[in-house]
Amino acid sequence: MAILIEGQSECVICKCKLQEFEDIIMFPPLISNINDRIYPFSDSGVHKKCLTRHPLAADVIHYREQYDQFNNKRPIIDVEGNIIENPREIISWGLLTSDPSEELHRYNFLTLNRKRIANWTERENFLMTAKRYVSDGKWKSYGDFNLLEYLINLVE
Ligand SMILES: [Zn+2]
Repeated sequence: MAILIEGQSECVICKCKLQEFEDIIMFPPLISNINDRIYPFSDSGVHKKCLTRHPLAADVIHYREQYDQFNNKRPIIDVEGNIIENPREIISWGLLTSDPSEELHRYNFLTLNRKRIANWTERENFLMTAKRYVSDGKWKSYGDFNLLEYLINLVE
């Protein structure tokens, strides 16, 4: 979850400084693609009253809930429904796109077992979809680390 730095953190929407006594909603790092429409909310905070009026309010709240559920879910269960006991075997990722019209949307919030990647029936389609997303220029990282390319390499 983003940490509020009193007098430094700004509300994503009104750009005013967030104060601790205000009604504030903080967001975890939801997505690292800076082209995604909800990226500005990722790892940031907003005034509750600003968010209520914002057109993306329902979406960001939905993805925040999904993020929390996904990260708190125990035991860790892979995409085939098997429990993963060994943490080293876990490959998992959260939100890849907030746009439901993108095929990549089907692959949001997934957990795979590293040892059983070859068995994943969606593997080829995921790779094709993710590679197309990258080559269409839809994924842009803030820094040098490109999460989607990293995941493609892991699954390949
Ligand atoms: Zn605000």
